[in-house]
Amino acid sequence: MKKYTIVSRPDKLSASLEGKTRKTLSAHGYVYDEDEPEVVFVIGGDGTFIYAVHQYLDQLDKVCFYGIHTGTLGFYTDYQEADYEEFIETFLSGKYAQVYYPMLHVVTDQDEYYALNEMRIENAARTQEIDVLLDDRLFEEYRGTGLILSTQLGSTAYNRSLGGAVLQEGLPLVQLCEIAGIHHSAYRSLGSPLVMRNNIKITLRSNDYQGALLGIDSDVYWIEDVHEITVLPDVDKKVRVLRGRTVSYFSRLKSLF
Ligand code: NAP
Ligand code: MN
Repeated sequence: MKKYTIVSRPDKLSASLEGKTRKTLSAHGYVYDEDEPEVVFVIGGDGTFIYAVHQYLDQLDKVCFYGIHTGTLGFYTDYQEADYEEFIETFLSGKYAQVYYPMLHVVTDQDEYYALNEMRIENAARTQEIDVLLDDRLFEEYRGTGLILSTQLGSTAYNRSLGGAVLQEGLPLVQLCEIAGIHHSAYRSLGSPLVMRNNIKITLRSNDYQGALLGIDSDVYWIEDVHEITVLPDVDKKVRVLRGRTVSYFSRLKSLF
């Protein structure tokens, strides 16, 4: 792997680590290539990681990611500023493992998207009605602000703020969580977070998505002309991440609160 690029958060610390990294890598014969990198260095936070993945979404089969966090410990990265030397040495010596994180494949009647943390439908303007179908069978008729479907990785992000369960790393699961669901006798939805295998087909159907936004990680899209949003059971995009050191999942988790 000789071609690399760097995606960093726009702050002073991240910029200074980027400068150091470029210098070291070029001294070792690596070539900076934004268009067709083999490895993407991510310097910043979990948010920066998501951004970097979306930048290289159409090249995920060829690209891997390697990150250092310039805040606390992250879920996408194992290194903090104090570990910088180890971060670089590990890369140069090739002593890392590779792990893969599956993305959600989301299709609407108009477009398709990929999500690493979660996909969500949110309507702040009015009560949103959504029929939820699991493997093509009607499961519930939801009413409320919206629904979010998160990956294992995304379970510590928005999902966690909504009272969803945190899923340990490696579990091939997704989680459906309500955003302020309305529960009374006329409308029936589960009410609690639902954890499922990630090879399930999930369809979110509505006569009217007027005022609703489809959220895909950091991005949002208006979906007023959409009637059906499906998360496919296939995992055709995965993010390949280099893992140099072993940080326990629970240490990462502990650094969140
Ligand atoms: P962002 O600033 O990039 O991220 C928002 C916060 O979420 C940051 O503190 C980020 O950590 C953290 N984060 C991102 N992915 C995470 C993960 N997998 N586990 C734990 N923490 C994570 O904001 P954005 O660009 O608007 O949206 C990115 C993500 O923010 C979305 O995917 C969604 O999960 C989350 N979000 C959360 C809420 C909420 O909790 N109420 C609302 C909207 C969106 P870093 O500081 O390390 O970057
Ligand atoms: Mn994005």
